[in-house]
Amino acid sequence: MSRFAVLGAGVAGLCVATELAARGAQVTLHDPAGGPGGHGCSWWAGGMLAPWCEYENAEEPVLVHGQAALGWWAEKTAVTTRGTLVVAHARDRSDLDRFARRTHGHAPVSGAQIAALEPDLGTRFPAGLYFAEEAHLDPRRALRDLTDSLAARGMPVRDDAPPPGAQIVDCTGLAAREALPELRGVKGEMLVIRAPELTLSRPVRLLHPRIPLYIVPRGDGVYMLGATMVEAEDRGRISARAMLELLSAAYALNPAFAEAEILEIGTDLRPAFPDNLPRVTRQGDVTYVNGLYRHGYLLAPAMAQQAAEALLGPHLVETADAACH
Ligand SMILES: Cc1cc2nc3c(=O)[nH]c(=O)nc-3n(C[C@H](O)[C@H](O)[C@H](O)COP(=O)(O)OP(=O)(O)OC[C@H]3O[C@@H](n4cnc5c(N)ncnc54)[C@H](O)[C@@H]3O)c2cc1C
Repeated sequence: MSRFAVLGAGVAGLCVATELAARGAQVTLHDPAGGPGGHGCSWWAGGMLAPWCEYENAEEPVLVHGQAALGWWAEKTAVTTRGTLVVAHARDRSDLDRFARRTHGHAPVSGAQIAALEPDLGTRFPAGLYFAEEAHLDPRRALRDLTDSLAARGMPVRDDAPPPGAQIVDCTGLAAREALPELRGVKGEMLVIRAPELTLSRPVRLLHPRIPLYIVPRGDGVYMLGATMVEAEDRGRISARAMLELLSAAYALNPAFAEAEILEIGTDLRPAFPDNLPRVTRQGDVTYVNGLYRHGYLLAPAMAQQAAEALLGPHLVETADAACH
């Protein structure tokens, strides 16, 4: 039987190991950091499972594979399905209309309906869109649940080298840049804040002509505010501008966010190929699963299934790229 060594315990590596293990393969999982954490991009994600919203500026595979991810994650971790609310100020009405034209799976909502869905938004926004079928998860819990489930099946994350003879599946995100020179980093900056006096029960996206922002509830009054998109070579620190934009967006949703406690400031580089779609590729003996861009949680399950089928199925992908099509 083939033995596989999966490199990287981010969302890509954990999903690939899970899918290989589900097919009965012998798998070891390796990450020098010993497991998921702030060293990996997956730690900083919002955890929105929002294929219909993301379709606004993404390709068809994001919509198709993203919908399949909702069920995949629901079997592995806690997923909250309360939809996504997209709102815009009256002056940005044209942005809302454009968003509605470019997406589907939504219903228009009035100011009163927005207030009924999320009372703490009040009637600040005259109109919005409600994507009822979208969902969200807590990325750190999802990573832990996958890690724990693999460990319980005898596949803990190891910090040693892969065993000799194992087929390598490289899921190391941007660390694979040398082997995958087309890979680039797209910096995301985010905040985690605590505002116990405010309640939002679903992700809310605030459309804005320059920087569209979102807020994702984590429970117990904790919210993730994200995220910028900046072409960058290193993850660096958060810029003053990003901090201002993120906090202004929260303030625009409800001025009481001004009293929030800032718990975390996070930045990382999303690994992306030129077309912003992920790929399963093969170079020599190594299979690479990479380029998840801003859709790590949305597309990793589908990419992991593609990789597992390519590795274990009758027709092993030898050189061609199995892109996310
Ligand atoms: C602010 C922000 C918000 C985001 N929000 C969302 C969202 O709401 N929804 C969504 O779907 N996506 C979101 N994303 C995108 C998502 O986080 C990424 O697409 C995803 O994390 C990429 O995962 P990865 O496993 O490829 O890389 P990583 O998470 O970076 O994992 C790579 C792992 O490889 C390990 N590694 C490195 N070198 C080696 C080696 N030589 N051997 C073994 N292991 C190695 C590293 O330690 C690391 O653990 C967001 C990203 C950011 C930055």
